[in-house]
Amino acid sequence: MKPVVVLMGRPNVGKSTLFNRLVRGRQALVDDLPGVTRDRHYGEASWDDKPFTVIDTGGFLTGDDDPFAPQIREQLNLAVAQADVLVLILDGRTGLSPYDRDLAAMLRRSGKPVFYLVNKIEHQRQQASLGEFYSLGIEMFYEVSAEHGIGMDDFLEDLTTGFPDAGSQEEPPVQEPVRIAIVGRPNVGKSSLANRLFGSPRVVVNDQAGTTRDAIELAVTRKEKQFVLVDTAGIRRKGRVTRKLEKVSILKSLKSMDDCHVALILIDAAEGITDQDITIAGYAEKKGCGAIFLLNKWDRVDKAEKGEKAFISELRQMAKFLSYAPAMTISALTGQRCHKILDMAARVYEEYRFRINTGTLNRIIADAVQREEPSLHKGRRLKFFYATQVATRPPCFVCFVNYPKAVHFSYERYLVNQLRQMIPLTLTPIRLYFREKTGRMDFSGKTREKERIALKKQRITTKREKQRKDQSQKKRQRDRKTGG
Ligand code: GDP
Ligand code: GDP
Repeated sequence: MKPVVVLMGRPNVGKSTLFNRLVRGRQALVDDLPGVTRDRHYGEASWDDKPFTVIDTGGFLTGDDDPFAPQIREQLNLAVAQADVLVLILDGRTGLSPYDRDLAAMLRRSGKPVFYLVNKIEHQRQQASLGEFYSLGIEMFYEVSAEHGIGMDDFLEDLTTGFPDAGSQEEPPVQEPVRIAIVGRPNVGKSSLANRLFGSPRVVVNDQAGTTRDAIELAVTRKEKQFVLVDTAGIRRKGRVTRKLEKVSILKSLKSMDDCHVALILIDAAEGITDQDITIAGYAEKKGCGAIFLLNKWDRVDKAEKGEKAFISELRQMAKFLSYAPAMTISALTGQRCHKILDMAARVYEEYRFRINTGTLNRIIADAVQREEPSLHKGRRLKFFYATQVATRPPCFVCFVNYPKAVHFSYERYLVNQLRQMIPLTLTPIRLYFREKTGRMDFSGKTREKERIALKKQRITTKREKQRKDQSQKKRQRDRKTGG
């Protein structure tokens, strides 16, 4: 992710002049979302092949505003939270103002790196009067003229020291296969569909139930994307299915969801949607994997009696909790629309593993909160400090607030919907947590056990990754010793 540089300073010091100079030749984005009262400018800049994002906070405060008004404070705090590096611009012509001191103190409190620019220095003799800026308690500042481009090289050189260069950011992400599970009641057509998607001779391994090997993985490539069918144990062809065996096979099929990115939830449309189908869908929701509803055996459905629309709206009614899962009618037997399934799975997966940059996320949350303020809770006002994405697969966000318990579930839903719309993420489950700005994650009430487990898993994975890294490092050291 590119570093974010935020330009701060009172009105007329030259923020937008500097901004324009930095993003020159590149497109500056003016944020004109409805409900945003202040302009915010985002732009892409680069120095010495090191790209970074610049945010001009100029619009937050115009000449007539009270710089100490709480809503302006909040906006500035959010901007500071988004920043990797802060730049405070001071005016070398008008000199120091009390507001400069106030801003400088605020930036220093953030603990983030701050660069101080004294702008509008075009002549040697102006430099004589710059001593007063040291009274801000700063060790050094850059004398520049944003308008005439004086002093820019030194400043940019220092600013971007330590920024990653473009090459290292463009490393192609490792393409991992999308792991697919096909789940559903017995006889809905799981093996038939697996055969169609992953090649026919290999799935049907044995006609006798319960005797084949578990966890066979089948791979297929489509449009240069790789897919793996995980744990076919649940979908092998069964002999006569006894009641007990039916249960076992459903359990196995559900287990395959533990290990998948996208579950294809098969439903026998000829039989109609049953409660058991919805129970299975409930597991997908609990696991937090991506999901696609497939109404199978569409060839056998009397469409005059009940069409696709009616089927899907009935499904939506019964499985409201999976509203993000796309639904398709297919026939595994005739192959109708089956070629679209993996393409859809790839789209779901792209969202499932999506990562947003912190700046954009905070902008979306800030705008959402501004558009619709949370109601008071026991007389206390809910305050949002900043948000961050803590995990992918599925995307998981944490909002730091002053008082997590004050987040009403309807407001939580509003924020989730805003994230879905604005990012946008429409096909994947997402998680949103609220955490007190200092303190532990709040899991009470609204958040559920499985999410805690998911987070725990996340930590375990990173722990494991660390172990693996340590091991390979040790091995390298050993190799070096034996080699030399
Ligand atoms: P902002 O309100 O902080 O965004 O400030 P602007 O970028 O709009 O600049 C305010 C005024 O200062 C404008 O009239 C600019 O032309 C002028 N200005 C900006 N940078 C310089 C500079 O380096 N030298 C001089 N002399 N004027 C400048
Ligand atoms: P599984 O138990 O979920 O793996 O289901 P199977 O793939 O074994 O299918 C059960 C039965 O439904 C078999 O007789 C299939 O031929 C049949 N079947 C599967 N898909 C379709 C379909 O799209 N249309 C029709 N008409 N029959 C299907």
